[in-house]
Amino acid sequence: MHRFDEIKNNYKKMSDSEIEKIALFESIGLERKVIEILRSEIKIRGLNSNLLNWVNAGSKKFEENELEGLIKDISILPCPKCSKNSSILYGYEINKIFSYVISSSESQKEKILCSACGKKEKALSIIQNSLFGWWSKSGIFSTPYLLTKDIFNLSRSKKISKRILNKMIINNTGYLRMNGDKESLIDFINRFNKR
Ligand SMILES: [Zn+2]
Repeated sequence: MHRFDEIKNNYKKMSDSEIEKIALFESIGLERKVIEILRSEIKIRGLNSNLLNWVNAGSKKFEENELEGLIKDISILPCPKCSKNSSILYGYEINKIFSYVISSSESQKEKILCSACGKKEKALSIIQNSLFGWWSKSGIFSTPYLLTKDIFNLSRSKKISKRILNKMIINNTGYLRMNGDKESLIDFINRFNKR
């Protein structure tokens, strides 16, 4: 069977909510032909017609200058944490490790924050990790690695911020193409931080 026929059949077998999920979150990067198959499946099922616009918006990647413009728009928003406008916003990577007696749990979260809030969260996570990361077999190995990485990365914060912002925008192309106004962007970074 031809690859595209196979994709068509797969889409046919999916539930409405699975199709909606693909349209909303996974249509970026799909080939033109697959986008057409997805669009026709949405039409056949009579799903919400906004999904069609969404698929179009999401599949059209941001050009470099659009990406830069969006990063600029986001960076001048008030901070989602302290609501102040005192500095531009950056992307921060917050790593956490917590050891229980027999195991440890690690998490990595990306957040958009002003520099004061970002530095505070970062420092807090480093202190917490150095206090609570060690006390398990796996923590003994992961904690020094994580601490070294975090301390080394302090000097690379601009680069990391750019990577986080780029990824966040590219992963949400469809949403951001249709909701680029200030209010929607504020709501968007709030949800990004809470996810
Ligand atoms: Zn702040």
